Amino acid sequence: RELVSPDADGEERQIEAALRPKRLAEFIGQARVREQLSLVLESALRRQRPPDHVLMNGSPGLGKTTLAMIIAAELSAPLRITSGPALERAGDLAAILSTLGDGEVLFIDEIHRMARPAEEMLYMAMEDFRVDIVVGKGPGATAIPLDIAPFTLVGATTRAGLLPAPLRDRFGFTAHMDFYETGELEQVLRRSAALLAVELPDDAANEIARRSRGTPRIANRLLRRVRDYADVRAGGVVDRAVAARALELYEVDGEGLDRLDRAVLGALLRKFGGGPVGLSTLAVSVGEEPETVEVVAEPFLVRQGLIARTPRGRVATAAAWTHLGMTPPPDAFG
Ligand code: ADP
Repeated sequence: RELVSPDADGEERQIEAALRPKRLAEFIGQARVREQLSLVLESALRRQRPPDHVLMNGSPGLGKTTLAMIIAAELSAPLRITSGPALERAGDLAAILSTLGDGEVLFIDEIHRMARPAEEMLYMAMEDFRVDIVVGKGPGATAIPLDIAPFTLVGATTRAGLLPAPLRDRFGFTAHMDFYETGELEQVLRRSAALLAVELPDDAANEIARRSRGTPRIANRLLRRVRDYADVRAGGVVDRAVAARALELYEVDGEGLDRLDRAVLGALLRKFGGGPVGLSTLAVSVGEEPETVEVVAEPFLVRQGLIARTPRGRVATAAAWTHLGMTPPPDAFG
């Protein structure tokens, strides 16, 4: 995995767990989502009923798992965690649902990647707190209805557009997670620096925040790389210049674009004259899966105003040419 890949693995996960805010009040940014959620949670607590199911939609590393944990914590409810790809058969889901306790929170990450039969079982479970367990095969198979405890489903997806409508409609509320502002990421960084006992001056926090692709997970990761660099090359002192040098070493540029972002942008300009070009063609040209380009690179490039999505494909903006120091062809903006 690349340094700035927004997905986490191994040791990274342990550090992430340590840096996770535990309560809603500690959660930084996403003001609207926080307010929406606090209302949903507070009214559920007053009514002493599990809240409606919650869907969280947004790019990797924006805090979806963290919020799922916070929801359970605020409800003082246990949390069960699984993911779409782990639910290959309806039986996988039935095994979880049938052992949920009253009011438990079930978190399904990457819920758009659930297999179809599990998905259909989930509809009924969400709506009626009931599932049909199919026993036997072929003509002799029978469905045995089974009541399950009222629970709250928290689903997370990077691609809400891929969710079938019947599933989407069964969520009482969808939290749309946006990229974070620089100031919010500075707060995330100051909080993490304190937890990691790193001295982080404001200008260094700003330098890292600006380059974090609007993503707390990346901010936390870059903070650790800057700390490593400072320890080895700068006598342990982090300042703006040290942060900038460290991030350059790790190929994060001044706007936070990483190697994949620049590869996608570079291909769009150099190989396709700025587009329009289809997503799959663009992905092949940088040797990546279309999904990686679509989920990991593109949303940030769009939000930075470097790429536009049009009905005919992806198009580079004037800012993209400027960012890579290139001159667009004379007819580029028509
Ligand atoms: P996702 O599930 O959306 O991929 P996570 O919830 O795993 O993202 O968050 C990734 C990391 O970023 C975690 O270590 C978490 O502590 C940190 N993080 C995410 N959102 C926030 C936030 N709003 N405030 C502070 N830290 C955050």
